[in-house]
Amino acid sequence: MSSKKLQYERPVIQKLNVGLMNKFGTRTEYTPLTHIDGNSVRDLLGKFGSPLFVISERTLRRTFREANRAFKTRYPKVQFAWSYKTNYMNAVCNAFHQEGSWAEVVSGFEYEKALNNGVPGNKIIFNGPDKTEAELKAAIANNSMIHIDHLDELYLIKELAMESNKKPRVAIRVNMDTGVYPMWDRFGFNYENGQAWDAINKIMLNDKMELVGLHAHIGTFMLTPSAYGMAASKLSHLALEIKKKYKKSVQYIDMGGGFASKNTLKGSYLQGIDASPTFDQFAESICTSILNAGFTDTDLPLLILETGRALIDEAGYLLGTVVSNKRLSDGRRATILDFGVNILFTSFWYDHKISPAQEFSQYTEDAVLYGPLCMNIDVIRENITLPPLKRDDHVVVHSVGAYNMTQWMQFIALRPAIVMIDKDGNSHIIRKRETLDSIEKDEVLPKYLKDFKL
Ligand SMILES: *Cc1c(COP(=O)(O)O)cnc(C)c1O
Repeated sequence: MSSKKLQYERPVIQKLNVGLMNKFGTRTEYTPLTHIDGNSVRDLLGKFGSPLFVISERTLRRTFREANRAFKTRYPKVQFAWSYKTNYMNAVCNAFHQEGSWAEVVSGFEYEKALNNGVPGNKIIFNGPDKTEAELKAAIANNSMIHIDHLDELYLIKELAMESNKKPRVAIRVNMDTGVYPMWDRFGFNYENGQAWDAINKIMLNDKMELVGLHAHIGTFMLTPSAYGMAASKLSHLALEIKKKYKKSVQYIDMGGGFASKNTLKGSYLQGIDASPTFDQFAESICTSILNAGFTDTDLPLLILETGRALIDEAGYLLGTVVSNKRLSDGRRATILDFGVNILFTSFWYDHKISPAQEFSQYTEDAVLYGPLCMNIDVIRENITLPPLKRDDHVVVHSVGAYNMTQWMQFIALRPAIVMIDKDGNSHIIRKRETLDSIEKDEVLPKYLKDFKL
């Protein structure tokens, strides 16, 4: 029996919604999510602490197979390469490697991570504008695919090739007009103005390098499959012209990543689940373009995909706990959660779906969801209709698998643990909750600052 006195809260009169429909029919956000792959949210939080990131390995593998199938049923030679920066937890990377993915990295740090995970050097694609001389040397020695971003890099590789007994395997990144604006033209060489051809000629006329592929990554969270069709046509055209002029075939065309996940962009009229194209639509657009470009059977290039967010977003959840409720000056309900924008970066551009993790009444109220940071920008959702939640209730944020676990910031609190639930429903910790020690391990306090008297 509890003898605790109920706390007083000043009453307010506020409109509650009862069983209303929104413009899309029933409000799916009102379904509680009490379990993830058979694990109770309450138990997970009890065991690993709150907040907590959870990755469903079942969803990860199912999504990968769906994407792989969409391409393999349409094109004879398909290879996925996991985009490390989208989520480089080793457990996540290795699950994709077990599914057959190569590695796609954009920095020396990620390159080392891929090697450490056991990916053979010749199955690592090295992208990005800033590869150091030492990193390029390692990539050449390991026969990795080096995707050249600019002429300075091209000249440096040429120089390194002269000192090496290995012939660097290079590709160029090509940017182009695909009908989607603003155009992504800061990476790679432009197609329309001839930069791409200039780079190709400089590589082909030099016998120290081998041009193995052509690469494009036309944007991120792309909602238009036809843009990929156009990009695939332009890369195919380059490949066919190279064949005509130099009698050499490029081995692959790499279409990059950027397929939208099922998240809902802020300000979007439609929910992401309705607005985002399927893998089949992207695959149809890309494969049709390449198949109809005019390659002979034997010259048909390998099709590489570096899909990131669309493969991992849905597999990720963020579990958390209500800290408190308050009324804003205009009477709106504000609910404060124990996770902030520092660990949920994607809340800046998505209206994440958020579900209560326990049963609730049929009443709902519009609310603002805040994080716990002492910062005005710490808003998880500006406006959401939820059943009124109380202190210690739990919530689940959906589709957070992409970018949050790589872009998160340690700020005034320790970053949470990450747990993976395997296909049999067992939970495995894949990144421990940070501790004061783990954060301070890299700090150095000069001796003379050790002591003070107050
Ligand atoms: C970030 C990135 C990807 C993955 O992009 P998504 O939008 O996550 O699919 C693929 N390729 C390159 C070169 C990238 O920079």
